[in-house]
Amino acid sequence: MLRRLFGRPSAPAAQPEDLAPSLEPTRRGLGSRLAEILGAADISEQTWEDLEMALIQADVGAATAVDLIQELRSRARHAGCRRARELPPILREVMVRALAVEGEAGFEGLDPEGGRPFVILMVGVNGSGKTTTIAKLAARFQGQGLTPYLVPGDTFRAAAIEQLERWGERLGLAVAAARPGADPGSVVFDALGSRAAREADLVFVDSAGRLHTQHNLMAELIKVRGIIARQIPGAPHLTLLVLDAHTGQNGLAQAKAFTQAVQVDGLVLAKLDASAKGGVAFAVTRSLGLPILFVGTGEAVGDLAAFDAAAYVDGILSGASG
Ligand code: GDP
Repeated sequence: MLRRLFGRPSAPAAQPEDLAPSLEPTRRGLGSRLAEILGAADISEQTWEDLEMALIQADVGAATAVDLIQELRSRARHAGCRRARELPPILREVMVRALAVEGEAGFEGLDPEGGRPFVILMVGVNGSGKTTTIAKLAARFQGQGLTPYLVPGDTFRAAAIEQLERWGERLGLAVAAARPGADPGSVVFDALGSRAAREADLVFVDSAGRLHTQHNLMAELIKVRGIIARQIPGAPHLTLLVLDAHTGQNGLAQAKAFTQAVQVDGLVLAKLDASAKGGVAFAVTRSLGLPILFVGTGEAVGDLAAFDAAAYVDGILSGASG
């Protein structure tokens, strides 16, 4: 799936080492706790309870932790395991499966020769990392010789427009004009009808993450999405929901509201480097039923890794299984 993520033209596939440094805090917490539990002792009821607790403490979420351990238990029983140290390979498999959501979300439709830009709509609450992720993705494609165009769809915050303009300047990318307080729908309409959009290979549309009420925000997003679809048939080709890796249960409820309002295709888990709770990847995958496509691994423009379930789990478990 990784190679398919960026589709044509080929994007660099994720290297497991991209993820490992960001998972270091999680590995020190969850990974070493699991290593302790999965020591040499016989498997007992306590083993399952301890494993479940360790997962919950790493933000895996109670329901997901129960599911994972149930699955592990039943597989271990089938395999006739008696010692806890026989469990790591099975746990690894169970965790990888939990993260591997089936889906075709990616950049397959990106066709630089096709005459129409590939449009990516970014959604998520303020501060989650949307704008930074747009810059990171745009820089990657720019590095492949493609032309991204940036559209500041969050006109409710002057700072959001300025931030995207600054990224545009730094990267040498065109940014659509937007005035603070302007109707985001008309900004997007004008931007997509512009010559810059026609000449672009990809258009990244930023969106508001907070309005006066949640309902307004969702209504606005639906409207913006509709305008994108009318301007460019088939667009947005990809809608990505950006989540902060610190997202707790409350953040998940907010995230669900986005997935209900607009058809979200995939997730970006930002700020993984700043969190010791890498278990949240399991909680968001399960609760939203969407694949994680990218992981933010720092504030710099190159700090983005394509998500790979096996590399992610290995990054967490390397202390526990090796
Ligand atoms: P937005 O409001 O959703 O557009 O969020 P921003 O892109 O403005 O990001 C909010 C803050 O998080 C900024 O200070 C970013 O530099 C920071 N940030 C974004 N992504 C990452 C990441 O992957 N790691 C770290 N450490 N910080 C990030």
